[in-house]
Amino acid sequence: MNAKEYIALEDRYGAHNYHPLDVVIERAQGVWVYDVEGRRYLDFLSAYSALSQGHVHPVILEALIEQARRVTLTSRAFRNDQLPLLYKELSEMTGYEMALLMNSGAESVETAIKLARKWAYQVKGISRHQAEIIVCAGNFHGRTTTIISFSTEPLYRDDFGPFMPGFLITPYADAEAIARLITPNTAAVLLEPIQGEAGVVIPPKGYLKNVAEICRRNNVLLIVDEIQTGLGRTGKLFAYEHEGIRPDIVVIGKALSGGFYPVSAVLADRPLMGLFQPGEHGSTFGGNPLGAAVARAALRVIREEQLVDRAREMGAYLLERLAEIPSPHVKEVRGRGLLIGIELKPEAGGARRFCEALQQRGILSKETHENVIRIAPPLIIDKPTIDWAVPILQEVLNVR
Ligand SMILES: *Cc1c(COP(=O)(O)O)cnc(C)c1O
Repeated sequence: MNAKEYIALEDRYGAHNYHPLDVVIERAQGVWVYDVEGRRYLDFLSAYSALSQGHVHPVILEALIEQARRVTLTSRAFRNDQLPLLYKELSEMTGYEMALLMNSGAESVETAIKLARKWAYQVKGISRHQAEIIVCAGNFHGRTTTIISFSTEPLYRDDFGPFMPGFLITPYADAEAIARLITPNTAAVLLEPIQGEAGVVIPPKGYLKNVAEICRRNNVLLIVDEIQTGLGRTGKLFAYEHEGIRPDIVVIGKALSGGFYPVSAVLADRPLMGLFQPGEHGSTFGGNPLGAAVARAALRVIREEQLVDRAREMGAYLLERLAEIPSPHVKEVRGRGLLIGIELKPEAGGARRFCEALQQRGILSKETHENVIRIAPPLIIDKPTIDWAVPILQEVLNVR
């Protein structure tokens, strides 16, 4: 079958809840993917940061195959010999005492919300079912009905109500606005350290620090969603480290499995995570031995290949090269580590056509919102590959 035929099948039999670039990928290795017609592309999106370790990393592949031969699923009704080791390794790597394993990122955000509410009633003493969580405009935390209840993107929300109460929305990057919304019923503030889906929005220096301080002063939990920014993407293990803070709850996913399998987690210390009692929360697949073995290998690759340092070095280099590109269309190039956004001027005609032009020339990227090209390659990318890509970006950013 050729690409056209695959696309026709998908359009006919599958829900149209995405608008993908029309590239039909057949295999991948490292930073490169290959389509069914044998064309090669540089993956400049890496599945929204899930592929930080690169496609089909041999160490993670080996762990997956090895574990799949032994046991894949026990359910949490029984124990397995991978989950305890993953818990310990996560704790040693992140500095949080405990973790709770789920599958998708959205599930772990939901888990963090439940944990914050439980803390609100059992520890803070908020009256039952009165707890409020403050979130930011432009947020992206996933697609469940609860999470889209506090989305500000009409596309994600309209026609999907009724909505979950208990969330207050405040502008992003405005710590004082958070302070003004806090009441005795405030359980937590939930935010992204950089808003990826909103177009790689980097808050001004001091924002996270101020929010953390406001939370601490008011006995409010700070939940940081590091699903996209975490595990090295921004040149630190967690993006919140750029401001020297330590959130109460951290949510991770995506790169936690190096793109092999959905694994997500909530991290917190014992006084918080210890609040969950048997039966109160769970997931059939959450914490399964296959996912745990994959996550252990994915974390090992981040450590052994020093991907955090790599993201910082390669990110600085790529950002510098991109900033030098003369283009009539570019409004701003911004980024931290290897999470970079090229914001186009409103009159440039939208980012989509630039992504399509990049695809023609062998680079896969994706527009985020109308006017931003998101650039987030696997963290294993090297200088020669960046040097190969930059002239192509320069050419595309100068098409009329
Ligand atoms: C991708 C993402 C999510 C949702 O993760 P899923 O695995 O798609 O449910 C939540 N928050 C952020 C910041 C994300 O980037």
